[in-house]
Amino acid sequence: MGSRTFVLIKPDGVQRGLVGAIIRRFEERGLKLVGIQMRHVSEELAESYYAEHRGKDFFLPLVAYVTSGPVVAMVWEGPQAVEVARGTIGATDPADATPGTIRGDYGVDISRNLVHGADSEASARREIGLFFRDEEILSYTRIDEFWLRGS
Ligand code: UDP
Ligand code: MG
Repeated sequence: MGSRTFVLIKPDGVQRGLVGAIIRRFEERGLKLVGIQMRHVSEELAESYYAEHRGKDFFLPLVAYVTSGPVVAMVWEGPQAVEVARGTIGATDPADATPGTIRGDYGVDISRNLVHGADSEASARREIGLFFRDEEILSYTRIDEFWLRGS
């Protein structure tokens, strides 16, 4: 089994009709989707999921943003899943993000950067635990795993 990461399509991604396009980036890259849910994020959940940013000037607007509409929360699995997913997502500020990344292709402003990705394996485990029960994460083989990894 590869490592896992947590990815969340923020409310702007849902409202702009980019759910399919965003999922496609991770799916085609070769990460395996092992958990997915659509939900509203409560203020309480937002505050614990973004606890590391409490007290910063963007914290309250960030909580307002992520609670402003439905999100799609996902668990993706694969070799170096955290780093691979962060690479596909791109730099925090879409204005600086490289074209070809999600933020670099679909965003222009740091306050609306479409997608979240866990920044370490420890963060991934913590964030997955906030959104998913163990039985909501699936185990299966994708038919192209050999062709993605060479073994
Ligand atoms: N954010 C913001 N203004 C800032 C920095 C961050 O609105 O100056 C928001 C943005 O949505 C970002 C989130 O806060 O994705 C978390 O910030 P972090 O530095 O963890 O960026 P990320 O890990 O998402 O790239
Ligand atoms: Mg972060």
